[in-house]
Amino acid sequence: MAYDRNNVFARILRGEIPCQKVYEDAHVLAFNDIRPQAPVHVLLFPKGEYVSVDGFAAKASAGEQAGFIVAVGKVARQDGLAESGYRTLANHGADPGQEVPHFHVHIFGGKRLGRMLPRE
Ligand code: AMP
Repeated sequence: MAYDRNNVFARILRGEIPCQKVYEDAHVLAFNDIRPQAPVHVLLFPKGEYVSVDGFAAKASAGEQAGFIVAVGKVARQDGLAESGYRTLANHGADPGQEVPHFHVHIFGGKRLGRMLPRE
């Protein structure tokens, strides 16, 4: 799938739509999810144009990939989640229902999170 420059996260990156920013560096932006599903629900994504984890894994530079996972740890620690625990989740494509076609990781925490997937 080609990258859509009008997706909502691209527009947030360009400053066209506001967000509740919690972290930013040269390669990464993180902000609070607009419809939080846990007391802490942060979305963290690279500034580069990647539709999902699949393209990021295949095409991003080693520096972007390393910086990304380092930023995940920083944001989780910043939110006080390192001790109590947290979950990271990335949706790719149709089966998990990816809504926004710009690669992002969800960081959930602040309560017992229960099963990873709902029972069928
Ligand atoms: P996904 O299904 O993994 O693509 O998740 C997309 C997430 O983006 C959802 O949890 C939405 O609540 C969130 N979201 C959509 N628009 C915004 C926005 N403008 N600001 C913050 N979060 C958003």
